[in-house]
Amino acid sequence: TSGQKSELEARAAAMLETERELFAERRPRTAAAHAQSGPGFFDGVPQHWMLDWPSPFPPIIETAAGVTLTDIDGNRLTDLCLGDTGAMFGHGPEPVLRALANAGTRGLTTMLPSSDAHSVGKLLAERFGLPQWQLAATASDANRFAIRVARAVTGGAKLLVFDGCYHGAVDDTLVDLVDGRTVSRRNLLGQVRDLGELTVSIPFNDEAALASALAANDIACVLAEPVMTNCGMILPDPGFHDVLRRLTRAAGTLLLIDETHTISTGPGGYSRKHGLEPDLMVMGKPIGGGIPVSVWGMSEAVAESLHVVRREQSGHGHSGIGTTLSGSAIQLACLRACLEEVMTDAAYETMNARADRIEAGFKAAIAANGLEWTVSRVGARLEVVFSPHTVRNAVEARLAASDTIEQALHLSMLNLGYLLTPFHNMVLVSPALTAGEADGLVEAFAAVLGRLVKGKD
Ligand code: PMP
Repeated sequence: TSGQKSELEARAAAMLETERELFAERRPRTAAAHAQSGPGFFDGVPQHWMLDWPSPFPPIIETAAGVTLTDIDGNRLTDLCLGDTGAMFGHGPEPVLRALANAGTRGLTTMLPSSDAHSVGKLLAERFGLPQWQLAATASDANRFAIRVARAVTGGAKLLVFDGCYHGAVDDTLVDLVDGRTVSRRNLLGQVRDLGELTVSIPFNDEAALASALAANDIACVLAEPVMTNCGMILPDPGFHDVLRRLTRAAGTLLLIDETHTISTGPGGYSRKHGLEPDLMVMGKPIGGGIPVSVWGMSEAVAESLHVVRREQSGHGHSGIGTTLSGSAIQLACLRACLEEVMTDAAYETMNARADRIEAGFKAAIAANGLEWTVSRVGARLEVVFSPHTVRNAVEARLAASDTIEQALHLSMLNLGYLLTPFHNMVLVSPALTAGEADGLVEAFAAVLGRLVKGKD
């Protein structure tokens, strides 16, 4: 209820104060490092948003191995953030480290296919079902290229996304649905065009809105995460994906599935487990064990149309697809190591077993503290949602969310030695997490909930 929520928020705000002090007390060297000023990084950090974490300043990491982070003050954290999925299989998986070590003789980048290329292409096709693949450096890039191909082969201009989506630094997708209108996202910097001209945003799980948006037959592509993971966690209603596929096919609209986060589901992602049959697919983040590489795949029909469009072009180059370091020897070597030896059935079995344990433990702690919260899950990814029922769209997700409670949870857990994903209540489980560490996480979560509800330990 809203009464419960405002009481919790008041206590969370008080908790945040003390947790911030505790965080800083334990990090004199980190504080001193951040206090240095002068030329260097803008805002003192390599990415400006690193300052947005709930701690008074970000920890500075000395080492990351498996699920253990050690900061420059010697504090150790068990990592359930895992670089927001970039390190989903643990920090520095052994086969990937070996591939990197071999790079000394095999080179890093040549602008030519390496001897791993053929095998990697086949591995991608076998694992993810789509027959034709290309590489990029980030999931953002891969989405941009896949959208470009969708427009090129359909001749359509418009893109459809779901309200609350995030697909990376891709301007076409950085929109919000406000009072029924699609507008540029509030915090987006430096975009002077009205993004609502070519992008349509509709609520997830809304079959009527989908049918109506597709009816004009001017949408080149629907870009969707199969489970929305960037606005709390929004699960698809039973049957929603069937409708999405049926309606997109009927409208001649391509379906681009972004598996960057839902690769937590299993070895072939959510699409393979649930038989989604996308025309295009994107994956990034953990696919190369943490080095900058992403992959995007096409159906035979899309690939054939792309050949036709390419033949009609004059000359070569500047297609708007690809970057110099994409498809490099080092990407291919790490991808191969990851696909063959890291993203294995056994790794996913361990991840799912640990996630089962955490899900059960979190639900028990929530119930024991009389909280009206749910735990949503897609394989090794769990999200605590401050709502008595699972949320169905971004409006419900935003209503359930609370920055203050989320931040208090995050920082209290961090001070107990467990790093959750910031800007979420998200727990990602790596195969390197032991059962004991999973139990420790549940214990810490229960202790923090106790403090949040009763105001003491
Ligand atoms: N797709 C999804 C679903 C994401 O969550 C993200 C990043 N959070 C991206 C794409 C973009 O990934 P990157 O920042 O590595 O380009």
